[in-house]
Amino acid sequence: MKILKFGGTSVGSVEAISKLLNIVQDQQQQGQSVAIVCSAISGVTDTYLRLLTEAASGNDYLRVLREVEQRHYEIVRAFLEIKRQNNALLGLKMLFNELDDLLAGVRALGEVSARIKDKVAAYGELCSNLMISHFVDQHCGRAVFADARQFIKTDSSYGNARVNDGLTYQLIRNYFKQQPNTIPVITGFIASNDKGETTTLGRGGSDYTAAIIGAAMEAEEIQIWTDVDGFMTSDPRLVKKAFSLHNLSYNEAIELSYFGAKVIYPPTMRPAIARNIPIVIKNTFNPGFPGTLIGPQSSSNGSLIKGISSIPAISLVNIQGSGMVGLTGFSGRLFSSLAHFGVNVILITQASSEHSITLAISPQDVPLAYQAIETEFEYELVKGQLNKPEVENELSIIAAVGENMRNAKGLAGKFFSALGRSGVNISAIAQGSSELNISAVIEKQDLRKALNSVHDALFLSPVKTLHVFSCGTGKIGGTLLKQIMENYEHLEGHRHVRINLAGVSNTKKMLINREGINLSHWQQELGEHGEPSNLDTFIEHAIALNLPNSVFVDNTASAVVAQSYDKLFKHNISVVTCNKIGNCGSFDSYNRYKKLAGKYGVDYWYETTAGAGLPIIKTLHDLLISGDEVLRIEAILSGTISFIFNEFKGDRSFADVVREAQEKGFTEPDPRDDLSGLDFARKMLILARETGLPTELQEVQIQPILPKNCQEAPTVEAFYEELEKSEDYFKEMKQKAEAENKTLRYIGNLENGVVKVELMMVDASHPFFSLSGSDNIVSFTTNRYRFNPMVIKGPGAGAEVTAAGVLADLVRVAPQ
Ligand code: ADP
Ligand code: ASP
Ligand code: MG
Repeated sequence: MKILKFGGTSVGSVEAISKLLNIVQDQQQQGQSVAIVCSAISGVTDTYLRLLTEAASGNDYLRVLREVEQRHYEIVRAFLEIKRQNNALLGLKMLFNELDDLLAGVRALGEVSARIKDKVAAYGELCSNLMISHFVDQHCGRAVFADARQFIKTDSSYGNARVNDGLTYQLIRNYFKQQPNTIPVITGFIASNDKGETTTLGRGGSDYTAAIIGAAMEAEEIQIWTDVDGFMTSDPRLVKKAFSLHNLSYNEAIELSYFGAKVIYPPTMRPAIARNIPIVIKNTFNPGFPGTLIGPQSSSNGSLIKGISSIPAISLVNIQGSGMVGLTGFSGRLFSSLAHFGVNVILITQASSEHSITLAISPQDVPLAYQAIETEFEYELVKGQLNKPEVENELSIIAAVGENMRNAKGLAGKFFSALGRSGVNISAIAQGSSELNISAVIEKQDLRKALNSVHDALFLSPVKTLHVFSCGTGKIGGTLLKQIMENYEHLEGHRHVRINLAGVSNTKKMLINREGINLSHWQQELGEHGEPSNLDTFIEHAIALNLPNSVFVDNTASAVVAQSYDKLFKHNISVVTCNKIGNCGSFDSYNRYKKLAGKYGVDYWYETTAGAGLPIIKTLHDLLISGDEVLRIEAILSGTISFIFNEFKGDRSFADVVREAQEKGFTEPDPRDDLSGLDFARKMLILARETGLPTELQEVQIQPILPKNCQEAPTVEAFYEELEKSEDYFKEMKQKAEAENKTLRYIGNLENGVVKVELMMVDASHPFFSLSGSDNIVSFTTNRYRFNPMVIKGPGAGAEVTAAGVLADLVRVAPQ
């Protein structure tokens, strides 16, 4: 025999019930005898309990009750042939009348007891199973509605009753004996005490019912049919990358479900273990998928752990005081008192000094825990040997579980460093003595982020997701998004990085979408759905989303954007930037960015601020890391100026060449921003600072290229007019250089702690003589490269190469 248990979503719609019937028929075709256990239609138990509270408060409950009733009737009409409908509808009507009477009684009385709660909650399963027994009877052969209260016997702990196994098993076997060749459709969740009053097995308890029936009947398998592809590595609603597990041991399933994996109710495993019955979790909506087998053995799935689960709402109670030291029996008294008051302790940590004990409990148990402690330790509290318990709320537990953890070295390190890197604060830590789990208490608001980052770190999930907030959609920003789209598959397939564009903003509009903005239509989405842009709000949104591996990409040239880096780092958001302004503020602020990024465990990459796509800063770092010492840096780091001097030959006028550079998109909107040497000076400043020189922008000596009249012209057009008037000035410079067989170069130089940018004439022996187009070049003279400097050369301007450099920095953010 197999026991087939169907959960709330598997009985909640016409589509689901059709699947259910197919699944039962399928088993019959294989010659299997089956018993079915169903939950209430999903949400119905909650609704009945809510109506109970409404009734007790004297409010109306009838309207909602009628809606639920109609829902059942509609399903009956959809499934049953007319001649069978009356019977089923009549049965349901009687149940709804009883429920109505019960609620009316509560309304008259104005109060609710635990006993009444169970009685009312039971109607969810009574209604659904009654209805389904008729469907099974019509489609699969003789079926009978079985009210489990007649054979599952419990104590009177309403809400979470304890089963009397011996008696229950006997009654179940008797019942089945009286029903040969029929398919019992059995109410999950409900039972009764020795007085015959209704009790329940705890929320989610229908799974447990199935296991009890399975154990009593020594079934060959217990199947739990639900709405997901089996037991997954984490709750798929919170962790998109969760995947289903082929196999779990009973202990692993207990541990994961105890720590919140709702897919199976923890006590379910107990009867199955006793009789060694496999439990299979399957998806009603995807029955061909093998699902998860829970049995005595755990088999490795290639990862250090099996799953990560979480309890979203818990409170921590901290008990401390001098009186606890050496007080024998303290813990014993504490825990028996808590048990006496019915407080379920989820997790305990105790300092080795025995100075404090911290308990994680459900928030609703906090008043009871206070009572338990105050009652048991009245004397110690009055004497001041024990402090008043302190309570912290708004917390969650995250737990990683797996049998193989025992032998896995470095696992705890990975677990905690993943949390640390995401900026998740840990309030308490516990490792079960079974070494089957590590758990941490964290702030509730961080739960989703914590689950995702630990999942990424502990599963050999090949792909890491970066959540990108891109600021600036000009030439570089726009090209970057295009490149991400074009390289999306390559990045995922070869670099194992998936980029999710969670936010995009420019000076006019901004858009945030946790699920990702479509990279091929981002302009359209931003235009249609974007809100007016505001940098602070954009950053607040990025922080509030609280996604792991968040990266802010600064594609602007704005000082205001750069000023927000501090805040981003403090919220564990990495920064990738091509904006030079950030690193060119005071040396203190440059240092602060680096320190903050380090302190919060995030990345700060700015390769493109020195030479667009050229690996200049990376190379410099590598030299320094390997112990080399920089003696001199010479560089041409302005693609625009390079281009201008390279093209300024023959009869062409200087103004004409500048115009061409502007048309080609090399220059800033005002070409003087390049020609003033300031942009170049900034790049030299960054390189100097990277070598460790604590210098400021004002200290960089800049020799201007432009005569004063050009520099001071009020508009760009006026500047071009002045440039034309100054043609002789440039011609003279050029002729002088040509006369000496030299060429004009604007060169940056760092030597002996002095940074300069100057116009020089170099001859053919100089490595910079033969530079062409808009190329940049940098030459590092170091201890190791003293006689033959290391030279890096290539295009140093243009949106394509710069965006590619930003993308390369972005991919580096992916955690190891
Ligand atoms: P049913 O009504 O079928 O009993 P439940 O809602 O009780 O279904 O349990 C299934 C749900 O459990 C899934 O929809 C999923 O959201 C949640 N869940 C939480 N953790 C896990 C996990 N590790 N694997 C699968 N599902 C999980
Ligand atoms: N209907 C009950 C509940 O909602 C039992 C179950 O669904 O397993 O908790
Ligand atoms: Mg369930």
